[in-house]
This record gives sequence, structure tokens and C-alpha cells, in this order.
Amino acid sequence: MTTTNDIENQYDVIVVGSGAGAMTSAIFAADQGNSVLIVEKSDKYGGTSAISGGGIWIPNNDEFRALGGQDSYETALTYIKAASEGSVDESRIRAYLDNAPKMIRELQANSRVKFAVAEKYPDYYQHLEGSLPGGRSMDPELFDTTGLGDEMDHQQPASGNTLLMGRMAWTARQAHRAVAKERGWMLMIIGLMIRYKLDFKQRRKGRRDRRAGLGASLVASLRQSLSDRNIPLWRNTEFTDFVITDDKVTGIKVLRDGQELTLNARHGVVMGSGGFEQNQRLREKYLPAPSQQRWSATPAGCNTGAALEAGQKLGAATDLLDWCWWAPTMKVPKEPSSRGLFAERAFPGAIVVDGLGKRFFNEAAPYLEFGDAMYRNHHKTGNSIPAWVVFDSHFRFEYAMGPLMPGKIMPDSRVPKAWLESVYWKANTLDELASQINVEAAGLADTVEKMNRYAQTGIDEEFQRGGNVFDRYYGDSGVKPNPCLAPIQKGPYYAMKINPGDIGTKGGLLTNDFGQVVRPSGEPIAGLYAIGNCSASVMGTSYPGAGSTIGPAMTFGYIAANHITANRATTAN
Ligand SMILES: Cc1cc2nc3c(=O)[nH]c(=O)nc-3n(C[C@H](O)[C@H](O)[C@H](O)COP(=O)(O)OP(=O)(O)OC[C@H]3O[C@@H](n4cnc5c(N)ncnc54)[C@H](O)[C@@H]3O)c2cc1C
Repeated sequence: MTTTNDIENQYDVIVVGSGAGAMTSAIFAADQGNSVLIVEKSDKYGGTSAISGGGIWIPNNDEFRALGGQDSYETALTYIKAASEGSVDESRIRAYLDNAPKMIRELQANSRVKFAVAEKYPDYYQHLEGSLPGGRSMDPELFDTTGLGDEMDHQQPASGNTLLMGRMAWTARQAHRAVAKERGWMLMIIGLMIRYKLDFKQRRKGRRDRRAGLGASLVASLRQSLSDRNIPLWRNTEFTDFVITDDKVTGIKVLRDGQELTLNARHGVVMGSGGFEQNQRLREKYLPAPSQQRWSATPAGCNTGAALEAGQKLGAATDLLDWCWWAPTMKVPKEPSSRGLFAERAFPGAIVVDGLGKRFFNEAAPYLEFGDAMYRNHHKTGNSIPAWVVFDSHFRFEYAMGPLMPGKIMPDSRVPKAWLESVYWKANTLDELASQINVEAAGLADTVEKMNRYAQTGIDEEFQRGGNVFDRYYGDSGVKPNPCLAPIQKGPYYAMKINPGDIGTKGGLLTNDFGQVVRPSGEPIAGLYAIGNCSASVMGTSYPGAGSTIGPAMTFGYIAANHITANRATTAN
């Protein structure tokens, strides 16, 4: 029971969570004249957004057009509708397409956030009408964090696999150039290393690069934009419930450093508190089985479904609760979260097999599709959770796989001993390897023989790996005839275990075109907005291109701020 004595703090808008969408919403709300508070449960701000690639998928963006790229609202609409297969209302897709280019235009013009278009990053479903071979994904520029000072120590730290050699910041475009071994890639890496080493002032302080890239750049630049506006961000402050007055959400209850507080939001509460992937109970309730919190690549303990449960108590509608942003992941000892395998499945000479030693999907497919395929195959055969990625000594020398850097940089002698038979398995023959990992040896031998044939012809007769521009994006441009296919023929042989992990859940509170949370009848719950992974994704069951989670989170953050301000003006008149 809330009394007026409990109302200790008054704001126009309260934003819950401090991912990229939440911070974007706060910035727009403040720029429109609202007093804004952000509350974050963790002692670190930034959430999954801070450890992510930071890419945003913005169809029809200005930057691509300025470079002469061809895109249009209608083409993008055709594409998203085909990808999402009716799993989301068209009017929400339209709201996204109307607002995404405006959001990023205004944010870049008025804040520290800077993106460049990833011209070569293809949409994920190249077979669908309206897809483009590049230009819709945008990649954060490197951001100099000097101005943030010690506040940077409170940002969710970038995971090692988003940094060059686990330390140095780079952009996604630079990372791709190195992975695909495009012309000049070696010189580029040397340049990045020299820049890092010669930053003597920063090197005296520690290993952290002064510049941030990817999601760390996006979140740091947003954080500094909040500071520019004096928008308070309270860490260690956990949302626990809504305050309701006359059927309207008028505030929230929080635990701040263990103390209960009631915070009053005069014009709106924007929930940006992530999904429920870090809550085993909710995983078991909603996600396909088997499902493990430890398979998630998101920061441990952050996103536990608080918005979902509080919203359900209010009678909010929900959708897509059985879906994640799937990604095959790998567990590494001592790392709190799993590592996502985004690119390396496409490298030539690695295959993924189930317990029968059989491939079950195109390894180079987008991560959501691959995770979904792991479940579908498992539910059919009982054999693909876990699955195994298998490669030979040539692959091991040339390419990275999860935490194993290429052998030419990190030979087995330099790999932590504890990783043998926990992260990777190794044997002189394929038969021995199969017996170590309990995979059918005859099945594996047959699969490898077929793959070696496909590598010669360049045609994967079963799953068409490397058959489109998306697959080839992470292929090795020096490998012919198919940059995603190479023989597996030189021992010792290696295997690594992979699970159907995630980079967040994608179901949650159902929202309308304005980001308002709605009841099953479609009627909005006054005062309540949800964005990012605590809301049901505007992409439905699909993942149209790199940045399809953060792009919508930021765009609906913008839409929600605009709606709150517009409503406020109407109420005042
Ligand atoms: C390695 C990796 C790479 C990725 N790359 C990309 C990419 O390039 N592009 C892309 O679009 N997506 C990417 N993703 C996915 C993307 O990062 C997430 O889907 C997205 O960041 C989710 O945003 P969010 O705002 O919903 O949640 P988050 O960014 O996780 O933020 C939610 C915040 O809310 C806080 N919170 C939770 N509960 C409470 C509570 N009760 N009270 C207060 N605060 C609370 C959490 O602590 C957290 O800080 C990647 C993910 C990973 C793991």
C-alpha cells in the first residue's frame, strides 16, 4: 500500500534499465523538456548493450543514401513482412520504419553518438524479396572515453571476444576486414596495435583501451550524452513494482542500495529492463526445453524478467515468450557468461555435427536460425543439444574458434591446460575424437568425406553453405572456389561443444505503435511504455539483419519519449 509519504522523488519520466534503448529514450525525453531519472539494478550500467556489437539495423538510413546506396521504405517493409511471417502487426513494423531513420539522424545531430554505415554487411535472409547485400546495418565509430573519467569503470565491461586480442577496441567494419582477410588487413591490425601501445598515459593506468568500440562505444557515448544533460543514472537501484493511481502507472517502487523507495513519474515510465534470459524459472516456464541460463551470452544476473512479471500482474498482454535471439554459445571456465559464436561457424573447414555425427543445418547461417535449427533437430532426433563443432589442424592454425585464437598466435601450448576436455577436445584421428565426445564415428567419417568433396566442387549439396552473400561475409576470401568450404583432412582433429544459447529473450510485454504496453483488448495501460527485450520484438520471430535488437530498442525509446511529450502537451492544454 503506497501512501503520499512514500513519494520521495518526483520526475516527469522514469526509465528503468540502462541499455542503449533506455539511454536513448532518456536523452530524447530530457531534450523535450522532461525531468528524467534512469534506474539500473546492477552496479554497472549498460546491460547487454554494452557488451554487444552495438550494431543497429536501420533500413533507409541517410548515411547509406549519402554513399549512393539504394533503399526505400517499401522495400524494407516487404522484407520485414516476409521475414517475420505474420508474427507481428504491420502497423508496428511501419512505426519502426517511419521512425528509425529519424531517430538516428536526430541522435547523431544532438549527442555524442556516432555511427557509420556498414555497407558490406548483408541482411540475414538473402533469399527474401526486399533484402539488401549491405547498407542497413550501422556500426558505432570508436569513441574516446577520456571525458567519462572514472565513470567508465562503472560500465559493464566489454567481453574479451569483442576486442582485438582481448584488449584493443575496433569497429565491426575493421573486425570484418581482418576476419575476411581483405586487402590491407595486416597493416590495419599493426596500426591498431601501435596506437594502443603508444598511448603511454593510458597504458600506465592499465590494459583498458582509451577508445571504446562496438557496444562499448555506443553505451559510453550515450552515457556521456546523459552526463552532458545532467540526467541522473542511479546504479544499484532495482525496480520491483509499479505504482498505480486510477488505473494509470504513476511511478515505480525500487530497492536502492537495499532501501525501499517510491518514485513518482508524472508523465510516463519507460521499461527498458531487458528480457528474462537470466531467470532459470522463467526460462523453464516459457522457452523450449532444454534451456539453461548459463548458455546465455548476456551479463550474468542482469535480465531476470522483472518488467514481464510486474506487467503481467497489471493485466498486460504478452507475446513471443517462447523465443530468444538464439545464438549458439560455448562455455569457457571462469567466464560468467557464455560466448556467442557469430562469425566462426562460416570459416572454411569447421563443421557442426550432432550426436550421430551428422550435419543438420548450414553452419554459416545467421545465429538465430542456427539456434532454432539446433532445437528443431534436437526435438526430432534427441541428438543436437549439445552439438559439436569439428575442425582439423589446418583450421586450428589459421582461424579462431570461440576463445581459441588461431594457432599461429595461440598454439595449443599456450592454451590454458584446464580448457582441454572442458572447452576443446583433441585427437590424432577422427575416430578417436568421435569416441572422446561420444559422437557416432561412422556418421562423422561419412560427413567429413562429403564435406571434403563439397570443398573441392565449392557446392554444399545438403545445406548450400556459402551459397549467398551473407554466408560469404565471414568466409575467407582467399579460399576458392567457396570461401566457406575447406577440407578437413589433417590431424590432429579438434572438437568444441556448443549449446543453443542466446543473446537475450525476444518475447515480452506487447506494445502498440507508440511503445505503450497494451492489455489483451489492445487498450493501452496509461503511463506505461516498454522497449527493448522486455517488450515483444517488432521483428516477430525473425532477425532481419545485424542490429535488429538494438535498432528497435533505440527507435521505440525515441517513439516512447515523443509520445510521452505529445501526451503531456495534450493533457496540459
Ligand atoms: C556478444 C553480443 C553481441 C551482440 N551484438 C548485437 C549487435 O551488434 N546488435 C544488436 O542489435 N544486438 C546485439 N546483441 C543483442 C543485444 O545486445 C541485446 O538484445 C540488447 O542489448 C538488449 O537491450 P535491452 O535494452 O533490452 O537490454 P540490456 O541492454 O540488457 O539492458 C537492460 C538493463 O536493465 C537492467 N535491469 C534488469 N532488471 C532491472 C530491474 N528490475 N531494475 C532496474 N534495472 C534492471 C539490467 O541490469 C540491464 O542493465 C548482442 C548481444 C551479445 C551478448
